Amino acid sequence: MAGEPQSDCLFCKIVSGEIPATIVRESETTVAFRDINPQAPTHVLVIPKVHYPDAATLAAAEPQIAADVLREAGAVAADEKVVDSGYRIILNTGSGAGQTVFHAHAHVLGGRGLQWPPG
Ligand code: 5GP
Ligand code: ZN
Repeated sequence: MAGEPQSDCLFCKIVSGEIPATIVRESETTVAFRDINPQAPTHVLVIPKVHYPDAATLAAAEPQIAADVLREAGAVAADEKVVDSGYRIILNTGSGAGQTVFHAHAHVLGGRGLQWPPG
């Protein structure tokens, strides 16, 4: 059922603690942890505790939790002191756009120059 934990989902296992992660923030509805393969000095993933395959399906079903993810992404940027230098919140959606984990997540990238448009 949508929103329920998926037994084969890596990020559901991080939410449950079955797989360890370096958690930097947690709220009632979200967890933020460092990406295992960082692409910038700050590279944190913010995920909802509930399982949806991507950000848009999360927002359609649970708009408040989608807003929580964005708020927490901003809080991570503040914690990491990258607000003044600029940072990027990325929502890869679909394998053609580089999505590899099909549990909604926002990347927070900062701490270096970021090109536009991204590749
Ligand atoms: P996507 O490519 O789906 O947008 O992002 C998935 C991200 O999850 C990738 O940046 C990848 O490095 C990260 N990732 C994959 N497996 C793990 C893991 O076991 N732990 C952590 N912390 N990050 C992971
Ligand atoms: Zn999941």
